[in-house]
Amino acid sequence: MDLYEYQGKQYFARFGVPTSSGEAADTVAEAVAAADRIGYPVVLKAQVQVGGRGKAGGVKLAANREEAELHAGNILGLDIKGHVTKRLWIEKATDIAREYYVSFTLDRAAKVYLCLVSARGGIDIEEVAATAPDSIARLHIDPLVGLDRAAAAAQVAAAELDEEAREEAADTLVALYRCFVEGDADLVEVNPLVLTTEGHVLALDAKVTLDDDAGFRHPEWTEFVDFGDVDVRERLAKEKGLNYIGLDGSVGIIANGAGLAMSTLDVVNQVGGSAANFLDIGGGANADVMANALEVINTDPKVRAILVNIFGGIVRCDEVARGILTALGRVALASPIVLRLDGTNAAEAHRIIEEAHSDSIVTELTMISAAKAAVEIAASAA
Ligand code: GDP
Ligand code: MN
Repeated sequence: MDLYEYQGKQYFARFGVPTSSGEAADTVAEAVAAADRIGYPVVLKAQVQVGGRGKAGGVKLAANREEAELHAGNILGLDIKGHVTKRLWIEKATDIAREYYVSFTLDRAAKVYLCLVSARGGIDIEEVAATAPDSIARLHIDPLVGLDRAAAAAQVAAAELDEEAREEAADTLVALYRCFVEGDADLVEVNPLVLTTEGHVLALDAKVTLDDDAGFRHPEWTEFVDFGDVDVRERLAKEKGLNYIGLDGSVGIIANGAGLAMSTLDVVNQVGGSAANFLDIGGGANADVMANALEVINTDPKVRAILVNIFGGIVRCDEVARGILTALGRVALASPIVLRLDGTNAAEAHRIIEEAHSDSIVTELTMISAAKAAVEIAASAA
């Protein structure tokens, strides 16, 4: 789960990472009221999950109420690389002396954590990485050893941060590392981490990706649920614990196993159709899972046919067939199912489906013929 900047900063604060306090706002009136409370000058920042907001006009300083109102109006609704701004974060403006870069992430190849620090942070860090990679200090951290204060101090020295920033920057690195490990993040990135003109270090931006697999340890993460730019289908799928990604086509797809689901998408494309989603129901294709999957696909008005592609390896096809029939009793489907069941007990499964005489199910024996049938149904219903 990716956090918005303001959520990332709130998360940082729990671990003692210094940030400016501020307020979120969804309307111009709210933004102006927040700016008044915070006190001018303030900075107004678009809350979208994409980089380069500054360059796109999504980060503006306001010296007074008139400017706050003007910028709030311009930034709300602003499209930044396809992300429409629905929320602002407003915080006290900072007088910046220097901009640095810090990140913690996993180095999967080396099987350790990686900490990057650069004295040349700010909006052009990608260019620095490309043209002057040596100006980024790289530190591998053994998770069993961790990052202590001395190692953090050595790292900020290696990155040649300004002398007056080093003490607080080292403290901040230790706090960010705790946020990364104890906070169960896959990525913590601060660009820029700034040295203020008063000589303090502050996280001015925050990019945090939480490890969803650690969610069971963090009931408090529910507060980070999205405020509206998430696909309704994806939200429903998430509530039901399904591995679902919404797409734009007209053929809804249910398959067991991520590989088979991806192949199913490919085959639908190959025969001239387009998938409405990716949905891997995993190993347990029982009635509950099937009903949940059909329910989610059913909420998508673009879907004209549903392709269910199951290969019975460990799961038995006859169980899947019964699951589908039970699910059909629970969900009133808006479009027909094209069903391809192969593998363990497939013959028994076909007999069960046939005997049910369901108007909603068309059975096909191969993946390609099933894809063709689904695409044809979708085209003729469009
Ligand atoms: P990004 O462009 O999406 O990475 O957004 P950032 O939050 O990193 O902001 C972009 C740039 O805006 C920063 O690199 C700063 O130079 C500038 N900026 C952000 N907040 C402030 C602030 O409080 N004061 C000043 N003077 N500049 C700021
Ligand atoms: Mn940034």
